[in-house]
Amino acid sequence: MLEAPPPPGAAILLVDDHPANVVALEAILAPLGHPLVTVSSGEEALRQILRRDFALILLDVQMAGLDGFQTANLIKQRPRSRYIPIIFITAVGRDAAHVFRGYSEGAVDYLVKPFDPDILRSKAQVFVDLYLKEEQLKAQEKLLREHERAALQRAGEERYRQLLDGLPQSIWAADAEGHITFWNRAGLAYQGRDSGPVTDESLWGALHPEDRAGVREEFRDGIARRVAFERQLRLRRASDGSHRWHLVRVVPEWAGDGSLSGWIATATDIDDQKKAEQTLREAIGLREDFLSVASHELRTPLTSLRLEVENLLRFARRSAGDAAAGVATRVERIDTQAARLNHLIDELLDVSRLAAGRLELQIEEVDLAEVVADVRARLADEAQRRGCALDVRAIGKTIGSWDASRLDQVITNLLSNAIKYGAGKPIQINIDAAGDRVLLAIHDHGLGIPPEDQDRIFHRFERAASSRNYAGIGLGLWIVKQIVDALGGVIKVDSRPDRGSTFTVDLPRKRPTAPGPLSAAGVRAEAQQGAN
Ligand code: ADP
Repeated sequence: MLEAPPPPGAAILLVDDHPANVVALEAILAPLGHPLVTVSSGEEALRQILRRDFALILLDVQMAGLDGFQTANLIKQRPRSRYIPIIFITAVGRDAAHVFRGYSEGAVDYLVKPFDPDILRSKAQVFVDLYLKEEQLKAQEKLLREHERAALQRAGEERYRQLLDGLPQSIWAADAEGHITFWNRAGLAYQGRDSGPVTDESLWGALHPEDRAGVREEFRDGIARRVAFERQLRLRRASDGSHRWHLVRVVPEWAGDGSLSGWIATATDIDDQKKAEQTLREAIGLREDFLSVASHELRTPLTSLRLEVENLLRFARRSAGDAAAGVATRVERIDTQAARLNHLIDELLDVSRLAAGRLELQIEEVDLAEVVADVRARLADEAQRRGCALDVRAIGKTIGSWDASRLDQVITNLLSNAIKYGAGKPIQINIDAAGDRVLLAIHDHGLGIPPEDQDRIFHRFERAASSRNYAGIGLGLWIVKQIVDALGGVIKVDSRPDRGSTFTVDLPRKRPTAPGPLSAAGVRAEAQQGAN
């Protein structure tokens, strides 16, 4: 059952099991004008004390059930009621022990019947006054705390605003529904004002017309989902009327009770960055075009040059005499240099093909062991000149669905590197197979690669610090990696400076159906990464 809330004011609790006594007490105290609550047992008194505060308790000592002393004892045990003053009233026992017990149970006074009504009234008034003073003090203290808290909050808000005003980004605050309530100084300045009414229109009006519909929808969606969101959009700058790209982040603001109190949005000007990105993309495009055109144009005269060199060489070798021998030696040197030039142009052409996503694979059945044997035969002279013995360990025919000429290119590049950087020491080429994968490892004992360069060397135009004194432009391994990737394989290097290198190519016998990362977009992304 619901009990009515207690009346306000400094109430006095009267506890006596004799109705006549209660009536008499009421009559004495009524003139004070304070609420009087009467009960006829200790138990009821305890219940009342649970419901409300009292300024004073008048407690009969002799009661059936809980007597006055027991009741007082229980009242004093509860922290909330411990300090309520208690006056004991009794008709019996004026002896010292009785009085002493009353005080030891926490009584502030002890009245024996018959007592003087005026004395009781004036005593009650003293306690009620004390109680009221204390309540007033408490109320004042509370008020003071509230004032302090409000002042602190104001100071906090002020600091917060100053902080927001000091930031270079445009910042706005909105209520829980997304309606704008505040712009910081940078935001207002961007709109060409230093104050003025803050409305939603201040944002929507500044938005680029093309962005409006999309942004509205995204904002509505984000606000409904009550999660942070961000998007790039164009905002009109009042000073010159230009629309500049901004990255806008909108984050929810939560109140202490966990409810959504509003939104804070920051708009960071990324226009310069976006333009730089665009310029970079165009520059990369131009570079690719230049590479492609230049290498094609270089190749045509070089091809006829090499043909002429070949003819001349044949002619000189057929002729007799020292002069002819001298010419042959010189023409051989020209041929060697022309071959290097040809190789360089081939690499550049491959780069532009790969960058444009135009590397087409001719997949057919290929024997890896045979390709290795071909490459080895082709590079045998060069290896011998550099003093590197070539040792091939194959497992017989190793068939897979690959592109023979691209595989040849991979092995040629890796073996040429092993010879070039192999310091004249023996080189091992191993072919192994594990299930439907094939492993090709080329192991040299040369100058090795510092650990910090081992990832880098697979990127375009990247070379290890250790190879500074060797000719090369850092494209071979990049091309190798593109081809291996396109065939669905993986290339790794294991190397230590001055202790040689092992390049391992792990190839599936059949290319997985998913397209390899051989798209122009992939290459462009990588090129950009390199530029960053
Ligand atoms: P290039 O040899 O033309 O510089 P590559 O792309 O073939 O270009 O190789 C990139 C770099 O990797 C080389 O410059 C070299 O620093 C390092 N490198 C490649 N292979 C080896 C190897 N077998 N031993 C030591 N360093 C190597």
